[in-house]
Amino acid sequence: SDKTDMSVFEKVESEVRSYCRSFPTVFEKARGYKLWDQEGREFIDFFAGAGALNYGHNDPGMKEKLIEYLSSDGIVHSLDMATTAKADFLKKFKEIILEPRGLDYKVMFPGPTGTNTVESALKLARKVTGRDTVISFTRAFHGMTLGSLSVTGNAFKRKGAGIPLTNAVSLPYDQYDGKVDSLTLLERYLEDKGSGVDLPAAVILETVQGEGGINVASSEWLKQVEQICRRQGVLLIVDDVQAGCGRTGTFFSFEPAGLQPDIVCLSKSLGGYGVPFAITLIRPDLDTWAPGEHNGTFRGHNLAFVAATEALRYWETDEFAQEIRRKGEKTRTALEDITAKFPDLKGEVRGRGLMLGIEFPEEGFAEKVCEEAFKRGLIMETSGPDSEVAKLLPPLIIDDEGLDKGLAILEKSIEAAA
Ligand code: PMP
Repeated sequence: SDKTDMSVFEKVESEVRSYCRSFPTVFEKARGYKLWDQEGREFIDFFAGAGALNYGHNDPGMKEKLIEYLSSDGIVHSLDMATTAKADFLKKFKEIILEPRGLDYKVMFPGPTGTNTVESALKLARKVTGRDTVISFTRAFHGMTLGSLSVTGNAFKRKGAGIPLTNAVSLPYDQYDGKVDSLTLLERYLEDKGSGVDLPAAVILETVQGEGGINVASSEWLKQVEQICRRQGVLLIVDDVQAGCGRTGTFFSFEPAGLQPDIVCLSKSLGGYGVPFAITLIRPDLDTWAPGEHNGTFRGHNLAFVAATEALRYWETDEFAQEIRRKGEKTRTALEDITAKFPDLKGEVRGRGLMLGIEFPEEGFAEKVCEEAFKRGLIMETSGPDSEVAKLLPPLIIDDEGLDKGLAILEKSIEAAA
């Protein structure tokens, strides 16, 4: 047969592959919140490319714009040259996203992925302040390159660097451990000259930790972190790579807390269609880069501009965000109902908007749930340092029918794993 043999992935691809193990089939097509493998089996997607597919697979509007652009010989690769596609994106992003939120940032194209935007943010913070350390938080995930990995709180991932990672200090995340008050520690590190810790360049955080296990920081905690940073001239970097682009119910995840970060990192769903794209938003007076000081071949790709500009259509009114919040509440309630049916499992529901998870304390249980879900046609992943959280990231465009179907499979999968 002309079907792709799984052995290609087993024998040829590096052992570092991971999703082939969790989802052992060969996928072929996808639309909206559904995927199909080469045998024609249908899967509901509660994973959404780890948050890169907030608008679902193959969004018809974006597809049309991309085809139109390609048909008209629109320039695809242009390095840093000015293009109409780039201008359209910059104009629309300012008009639809920044201005209505009273935000003033310069937009930088740091490279195509999330780790690239974090890396650029860390570099700029060090350059601007002339200081070298960055404070991050337990269980944070900021990327896989050396700089972004140095602020990532995951021993297994850090081991991948093969060398000790420096220039970062990790503090407990909000609600990480009731016994540790991270704000007091942060104050001590930043304000006590006897702390023995050098004043850092920046503090970097996620408002909801995705890879760390769907840990939600409270608005009060976020606000206080911001205030402590401000008092000492320490820059606040919000990594909105996973929690941003609507995932938590507002375009930026920090809107409910009313933060005004100095630097914001965006990627994943920013490209709209699943095309690699990232931007770094910089407080205008911090934009001290000299031309060419941070460049790269694939930053600011025109196909990404085209798709990303079209994706901004979703944000022209507040309707989309309201729907995310409604579906988020509905899903959360359903998850609480499900966990109530299995009290022995001690499942704890967490999250905000459509970024949700259930922590199962029993070792390996969340992974078993995801395996059972895959068998029943639902794609889900785990997160947290011990893979203890079954994570739900359905595309934000999912309808109630899709949510209900996925949740029914999840319930059956929990039952089967128990
Ligand atoms: N920051 C956060 C919060 C993320 O969740 C991720 C990806 N999971 C990254 C950075 C890194 O993004 P990428 O994988 O695109 O490099």
